[in-house]
Amino acid sequence: MPKGKVTFDYHECKGCLLCVEFCPKEILYQDKKELNDAGYNIIKVTDMDQCTGCGICAMMCPDSVITVEVEKHG
Ligand code: SF4
Ligand code: SF4
Repeated sequence: MPKGKVTFDYHECKGCLLCVEFCPKEILYQDKKELNDAGYNIIKVTDMDQCTGCGICAMMCPDSVITVEVEKHG
């Protein structure tokens, strides 16, 4: 299983939650305490080790907030 890493350009996030809803690993969540400058709660990762780098979160994001990097083995 490839390992992925996701990073967020928090300034652009509008809190639509599509990434959270569609992550097959269910490792994304909305931080209820931290807001970006636009006043939206930002998205965080519970356990990056479980990320497969599938890229679904980035595909779903309407504002290109998410960058997915995949570490390939072998
Ligand atoms: S790349 Fe896939 S597994 Fe990783 S956070 Fe995004 S949707 Fe979830
Ligand atoms: S899909 Fe994009 S804009 Fe929507 S909550 Fe996730 S990171 Fe933010």
